[in-house]
This record gives sequence, C-alpha cells and structure tokens, in this order.
Amino acid sequence: MAPQPDERPTREPIDTLLRDLKTGRDGLGSREAARRLAIHGPNTLPTGRRASWLRELVRQFTHPLALLLWVAAGLAWVAGTPVLCWAILAVIVINAVVAYLQGRQAERAIEALSRYLPQQATVIRDGVASEVPAVDLVPGDVILVTEGDRVSADARLIEGSVEMDLSTLTGESAPVVRSAGAEDTADRLIDAPDAVFSGAQCTSGQARAVAFATGAATELGRIATLSRQATPLLSPLERQVRRSTWLIAGVAVGVGALFLPLGLLAGLSLPEAAVFAIGLLVANVPEGLLPTITLALAVGVRVLARQGALVKQLSAVETLGSTTVICTDKTGTLTRNTMTVTAVWSAGRTVDPVSPDAALGPLAQVMVDCNQLERLSDPMEVALREAGELLGARVAPRVETFPFDAERKRMSVVSRRGDRLLVAVKGAPELLLPLCDSVFDGTRARPATESDRREVLDEVDGFARHGLRVLALASREVPAPPEDAAAAESGLCLLGLVALLDPPRPEVPAAVAACHSAGITIHVVTGDNGTTASEVARQVGIATDRVVTGSEADALSEPELDALLAQPGEVVFARSTPEGKLRIAEALQQEGQTVAMTGDGVNDAPALHRADIGVAMGRSGTDVARQAATMVLTDDNFATIVTAIREGRRAYDNLRKFVLYIFVHAVPEVVPFMLFALSGGAIPLPLTVLQILAIDLGTEILPALALGREKAEPDVMSRRPRPRSEPLITRRLLVRAWGLMGVLSAALALGAFFAVLVAGGWTPGAPVGPGDPLHGVYLQATTATFLTIVACQVGTAFAARTERTSLRRLGVLSNPPLLAAIGVELLFAAALCFVPVLQTVFGTAPPPWWLILFLLPCPVIVWGADEAARWFGRRSARAPSRPRRPSSG
Ligand code: ATP
Repeated sequence: MAPQPDERPTREPIDTLLRDLKTGRDGLGSREAARRLAIHGPNTLPTGRRASWLRELVRQFTHPLALLLWVAAGLAWVAGTPVLCWAILAVIVINAVVAYLQGRQAERAIEALSRYLPQQATVIRDGVASEVPAVDLVPGDVILVTEGDRVSADARLIEGSVEMDLSTLTGESAPVVRSAGAEDTADRLIDAPDAVFSGAQCTSGQARAVAFATGAATELGRIATLSRQATPLLSPLERQVRRSTWLIAGVAVGVGALFLPLGLLAGLSLPEAAVFAIGLLVANVPEGLLPTITLALAVGVRVLARQGALVKQLSAVETLGSTTVICTDKTGTLTRNTMTVTAVWSAGRTVDPVSPDAALGPLAQVMVDCNQLERLSDPMEVALREAGELLGARVAPRVETFPFDAERKRMSVVSRRGDRLLVAVKGAPELLLPLCDSVFDGTRARPATESDRREVLDEVDGFARHGLRVLALASREVPAPPEDAAAAESGLCLLGLVALLDPPRPEVPAAVAACHSAGITIHVVTGDNGTTASEVARQVGIATDRVVTGSEADALSEPELDALLAQPGEVVFARSTPEGKLRIAEALQQEGQTVAMTGDGVNDAPALHRADIGVAMGRSGTDVARQAATMVLTDDNFATIVTAIREGRRAYDNLRKFVLYIFVHAVPEVVPFMLFALSGGAIPLPLTVLQILAIDLGTEILPALALGREKAEPDVMSRRPRPRSEPLITRRLLVRAWGLMGVLSAALALGAFFAVLVAGGWTPGAPVGPGDPLHGVYLQATTATFLTIVACQVGTAFAARTERTSLRRLGVLSNPPLLAAIGVELLFAAALCFVPVLQTVFGTAPPPWWLILFLLPCPVIVWGADEAARWFGRRSARAPSRPRRPSSG
C-alpha cells in the first residue's frame, strides 16, 4: 500500500530532536527566540479561504425581497417603462452590495475581537518560565503544558505526562494519554505517545515539551484551510427576520394578486395595472431591513468589547438581552480575588493577625510548599506562600505535585526536607478532614477524636460567617513518593486552618440591584463553603435564604432539582462540582429560563456550552473554558455581565425601533395605489414608483441607522426580561406602525395631494397626462404627497425613539446622529423638488408656497398621536398594580 502522506518514519529520540532543534531542556535564550521568530514567522494559522464571496453576493441577489424587486423590474419592462425598470435594477444592485459589505464588516468585527484576547503560552526562556503571547512561539521553545491549557504549537514531551483532548484534530473526543519517554511504535505522527499538538487541549496533568513546529507547519495549520468553509449558523433573530421577509413578500404578492383584477375591473389599462402592481411590490419591500439588522448587532458587539465583554457571535447580543437567570461563581467574579491571610488556627489557638510562632512551624511549611508552581500568579497561592514565609518557613525541594482539581477540592505536593519525604496537602476543610486520622497539638501529632473534628468544623464555620475563605492544611511523612493523589492524600495529620479575606468588588452590589430590578435572578454556584458563599452573597445583596451543597444537589433527582429551581428566590449552590453546574443549567432551561453561566475550569466547558450564554473569564480562566464560552469577560467582573445584558437589551430595543420606523411608511405608499386602482384611474396616481424608491432608499436609510444608535431607554433595566419566544415584529409593533402612524401619514399625504390638485382646478376624471393642461398641477400634487410622507417620517423617527416612555424623558435632542440624519433627509427631499435633473427623473415640480404651512405640523401630528397612545399604554399598564379602592356600594 502506498504510504499515507502523514505517515512518518519512527521519530527521532528526544535528545536527538533537541540537538537538531539546537535547543536544550531549559529552552532557548530570548535573543535566539527573537532570531527564530524572524526566520519562522509568527505562530499563526493560515487564514485560508473565506466562504466564497461570490456565493455570499449571489445570496444577496436572491433573497425573497430581492426576488420581489426582480419581479417589479420585469413588470416595469413589460409595461413599457424602461427607466423605471433600470431604476429598480439599480436598487437591487445597491441593496445587495450594501448588505454584502455590511455582512463582511460584521464578520470582521467578530474576527477583530480575537485580537483582544491573545492566547498565552508558558515558555521557558533564559531558564525561567514566563507567559508569552502564543504567536511568539518558535521551534525549539520549551513550553509548559498544564490542565486547562490549549497547546499552541506541535511539541514532544520531555518530562511529565498529560491527558489531551485531540478532538480538534482527530474528531475523537475521548482524551488520550501522552507521556515523556513512552515507547513509540505509532505509524502516524498524530498517534505518537509523546506528542502534543497545536489546538489540542490538556485535560489533566502537567508536562514540559519542546516545540518542533509552529504556525502553518503544525498539523492544525494543515487542516485550518479546510475547516474555514463551514457555513455560519443563523441566529434565532436572523431566522425570525428571514421568516418575516417571506411573510412580507407573501403579503405584497397577495395584495397585488387581489387588487390587480379589481383595478382591471375598475377600468385600468394593462400598462396602468402593471405600474400599479410594481408600486405595491416596491412599497412593500423594506429594502434596508436586513443589512441594518446585521449592522445594529455588529455595533452591539463592538460596544460590548469596549466594555470588557467579548462575544463570539452576533446572536449573543440578542440572547443577552433576554437573559433571565445568571449563575455566577464567587471568587474573582463577585469578589476581587485579592487574597489576604487574616488569621490561622492551629492546636486550639487562633493567631490573628498572623505573627511568627514556634507552634505554627509545620503549618507554615505546608503554606510555602503546597502550591502549583505554574499557578504562582494565583492570588491565593501567593498570599499563602507569603504568609508562610512570614511565619519563618522556607521552601523545600519538590519531588512531585498532585495538582488541584475542582472535584477533589484539594491538592498536594511531595517535598524533601532533610532526609524525610513529606506530603503537604491543602484543600476544602470538609473534604480534607475525613482524610486526617491525627491532629497536631502544638508539639506533636496525636490521634484525632470526634471532638477534635467538631472543634475544627466550628472554627471553619466561625471564619466562614465573616465571609472568609477557609483552607485546611495537613501533612504526613512517607517512605517513598506515592503513586497517585489518592495514595498521597490519606492517613494525614491535620495541622490547622488558614482564613483568607477576599472582599466583594465594590461595583457588584449596584450590579446585583440592577439585575433585581430587571427581573433577573442570580444564583451563586461556587466551589466554596456554603457559609462563606452566603455571607459574600449577602454582602453584595443576593438573597441567601437557600443554601444547597454539592452533595445535596447531587442527591436530588432531575424533577426534584427542577422543582427546587422553579421556586422563586435565589439559591447558593456551595461546594458544587462542574457536573452539578451542568445539571443546574439544564434544570433552569427546562423551566424555560435563558441562562448565563460563568465558569473557568476545564470541567466547566460542558456547562458553558449548555448555557444560553456561557461566560468565561479572560484573566483567570482556562483556555478550554474560554473556547467553550460565548462571552469572555476581560475583567472577570460580575458587573460586566450586567452591563452586557443591558447592552443586549438596548441593541434589541433599537432593532425594534427601526423596524417600526421602516414599516410605517408602507401604508402611505400603498394606499395611493389602491385609491388609483379602485377609482379605475379617475383619481390619478398620487405617488410615482420612483418617488417610493426615493423614500425607501433615499430619505429613510440614514434616520433608520441613527435609530440603531439610540441610547438605552431609562427603563431598560427596570422591566422584566423579554420572553425569548416573543417575535421581533409583534402585533403591538404592527398596530403602532401600520394602524396608527401609517394610517395617519396616509391620510395627511392624500390630504396634501387632493388639496394641491383641487386648488389647481382638478375635478375627478380630468386628464392629467403629459400635454394635458393639468399636468403641471398633477406634478405639484404628487410632489406634495412625497413631501408629506417625508414630513411624517420625521415625526415617526421621533416617535420610534421610544417604545413606552415619553420623548421628553429621553430628551428631544439627545440623539445627535438622528438630528443630522433628518437634516440630510430634508435637504435630499428639497433637492428632489427643486433640482431640474432630479425633477425630470422623479417627476416632481416645486409645490405651491402654501404647502409649507401644511407640511410644518405633520411631524408633530404623527409624533403627537403616538405620544398620546404611549401615554395611554403606560397608564393602563400601571392601573392594575394600584390598590383597588373598596367599592362604596
Ligand atoms: P468559585 O467557584 O466561586 O470561584 P472557588 O474558587 O472557591 O469559588 P474552586 O476554585 O472550585 O471554587 O475551589 C473550590 C474549593 O477548593 C475552594 O473553596 C478551596 O477550599 C479549595 N481550593 C481552591 N483552590 C485551591 C488550591 N489551589 N489548593 C487547594 N485547595 C484549593
């Protein structure tokens, strides 16, 4: 059989590889690394081909609204109006190109976000371990791989052993073990027992490895090009909008089909009927809708990024807005993650503040020895080590580490003190205590009694009541290095407790209060002790009436957990496990909630995936969690989640605002055509098709975009979350758009049309065609219709700025882009009436001077009617909550 392309001969032994790469077990020097970076280039993946731009562009020409316009253009051709046909074709092209460009821009906005969050790698340069951006890795670098890391280069292990998730490369989700020095009989490089690959994730263990390939030379680089072509999934909003556009298209065709025969019956000629049908189609197509929605979401993504929340999908903006429950962890999210050791307890004595004391010697040794070297930036580890050193202990040479994991909630280190081997263990007291069979009494170890255990737990509780995080410390002597964590962490001697203060972040109480007024429930899901967690929760204003521990939650059946979460109120889930988090997310979703869930560990990935909005921490989290999440917080701060929800609500509100705005003028555009058809041509067409296009594409677009920039309404965080099932285009929106403002605008526009016509001497049925004496008056009259619609649009724009509150509360002038857009709109409309070339194209003529007196109040009338309707809406919404007076009868 021919060899497969990726079959390699047996790989060289690691020492030969190190020699060939001109590196050593202690890595490269930083100068040499810089030199190699210049030669090999940055460690980035080839960008590959995008989803074909041609296909994307073709899609823009063939969506339902575009298809309608094609039909309109065809009809225009048949009706013998080639100018109109060309104009509609131009509209199709402009629309498609604008939509395509905006889509691309949105895509780029998302891509740009990845630059905010550079992946880091721990590399040994000049003999010391440091974090560098992963793009700077070069072949020959020695990297450290630990649980939670995403490996950034193809590398072979020099030391240690890890479990890797290679699913990005192999599609196989079961983790595989990779160890330094394992016998290599694999045919393919990908199966080599000591190789790890760029893009793979370390699920447990730790190791040192030498990078042999970076960037495009990696296995991932080779497949990157292929994997970039997957079609992006449509978000629920996009699907909704798409469905609505089909609906609109259906309505347009339906109305056309219904009225065309009526028009013919009423005596229209075929070309007249065709013009009529074109008018209906063009008037019904909301040309700017799709691109504007994408743009609004993209703006939302950018605003979020500026505020410290990086979202990976446009649709997340919309989901954020409908969040009903936040499940947050505690450390670093609600608290500052600045740890200070405030007290230690040992042999029945509390030492506070911490000061050197001979009886604390063994405890202090564990404080300096038991930590994960690569986590030495973790504030808790730093605080413990510093406090241990203050107590006089010095670090002993390390033999073995059994790292922390969120299931065991403890870790241990084997170190050599003189000729003794000592296991130093620290972890959650409730879980560590059962592993201790003796306690330290200040001078020596003695067997632990029941009352000792009770005393320890009482002490833990005492500290926890003050919101302190408590760790138990224990040790034991061993004859030889233990095999595994379980062997190391048994038969221990309890040395004492350490209490650490991690105060709440100052901005969190306000954020919690904002959630509560916004109808959002907050559950705390923490690995910490229940008492500590509920005290911290209390300090920030989260209701702490129910505390459920991990083991209690695990004991609940699915229906019981559902029932627990269906009750109103907030819950503290303490000592919870990653598995528990997943169950909580599922149970909440079962109840119909939209769940945002935070997580930072490797094991949190399933829960982050499952939640509607998985939130990972940019600073303290693992790469795995960041990958699984939809949103990454650059500051790890709870308050940022709330800011993001607010922004999500604002973005969605604004979508509604311009949908409303765009929908309104369909009525004044359609009604004139119906009048024309139903009168059998006795009433001339009050608005030409080109004038409709001038409105839809000329005067309307800028104000619609400016509405997308509208600031949040004052009540944005004081109303209940939007149900996710609620469509973007609601009945209320349609009533407001078509029923109220649309009808009013149509009435005003037709009023202006007839006023000008009649004042010019027109009587029903009088001919107004080119050459007829009344033709000039007719041109003035259609111009009056056009101008009145524009004037009504100005009123609509102001009304659309708010969904419920009054415009006065928002500030009439508080959206400068809108004011500018309206200015441009008015200039454009004036140009259309007065510039001779435009007059010829659009069939306009300068209207009589008195029309201005008619136009001026139009915006106020339209806006005023909506303002009054909103006022009534607010009043009737308030009414039921008022206490009813007892009836006097
Ligand atoms: P949260 O989940 O809210 O961030 P947490 O940081 O307490 O809270 P975990 O990191 O899962 O959650 O830790 C759970 C418990 O494990 C801690 O309360 C502590 O008792 C123990 N623990 C945490 N980190 C270490 C560590 N490095 N060494 C030993 N024990 C630890």
